[in-house]
Amino acid sequence: MNKTVTIGNVTARPGEIQRGVLEVGNDMAGRPQAIPLLVVNGSEAGPCLWINGATHGDEPEGAFSIFLALKQLDPQQLAGTVVAVPAMNVNAFTAGTRGDPLDTFSYDMNRIYPGKADGYPTERIAYAHWQAMQASCDLQIAVHSGGEHSYLAHMIFASDNPASLELAAAMGPQWPLVFRSPVGGGNPSSMMGSLGKAGITVELGGNCRSLTRDFHVVAEDLAASYLNVLRHYKMIAGQPSYAPAWQQGYQIALLAPATGLFVGNPELPFERPIAQGTLLGTLYDLYGDVLAELVAPREGVVFGLRSRPSVLAGQWCCFFGVVEQTVTDLLPARS
Ligand SMILES: [Zn+2]
Repeated sequence: MNKTVTIGNVTARPGEIQRGVLEVGNDMAGRPQAIPLLVVNGSEAGPCLWINGATHGDEPEGAFSIFLALKQLDPQQLAGTVVAVPAMNVNAFTAGTRGDPLDTFSYDMNRIYPGKADGYPTERIAYAHWQAMQASCDLQIAVHSGGEHSYLAHMIFASDNPASLELAAAMGPQWPLVFRSPVGGGNPSSMMGSLGKAGITVELGGNCRSLTRDFHVVAEDLAASYLNVLRHYKMIAGQPSYAPAWQQGYQIALLAPATGLFVGNPELPFERPIAQGTLLGTLYDLYGDVLAELVAPREGVVFGLRSRPSVLAGQWCCFFGVVEQTVTDLLPARS
């Protein structure tokens, strides 16, 4: 039998789904500022999974995928607890921007964990979120995407500890790219890793794929991955599936070599090996002359590309992965 869970102002007894908020100070009108959350508390005991969406306010994939996944969850058939936070940074989400436009001091919420009770505005939100999460969470999935300027294909940044790598593998067969990210990165996943628990940051989508059917495709992919995770940890019934192997390595940020109009190579494959020198995109000036070509600096995989064509020299154009090794041992050995 599971036990009753209380997070923020939400109390969920075994077999219940409840909703409420984490409160973080007051707004200008004196109303409480709040982070909405949903708690699905299973009837049986098990791990506690947190799914965190919209750390960055221009990345709505977490919210929609959480809605789709929770529709498929019956707390009576769940072992453990799922805590879902559709939008961690509510002010940024409201504005549709990466960070809270009202907070220029701690703009990027994914760099400031564990936050600070008496810190800058977003640090206070991160602090409230982390205090609630670290008290209960065993497994954490932070959902990100290319946001307003880019598209990102399937990529997992896993904290560099065995529990996090196992969680990455549990996401399922469409996630063979699992790069290790060092503990200590100031984001929720690295905080989980520093506690020896499981924390991963997953990337999929971007505002260029948030129109009608396309948004569903992205969110259904993510929702299916969360359910695969629940099967892997035996929180719901069913057989999980896995990638046959995982590619590990590091990313290189390929920045625009000039200010202009960036147009990606229409034949460019994502998530598949490409050769050094492969054309990634072309930069034009506003007379139609080619300013520069962006090419693969070495053999690697493209897991993301700029989707907003106007670009300044030095802005991100391509998320390029260098694969160092292929491994088959992210899952603990089965007895
Ligand atoms: Zn993000």
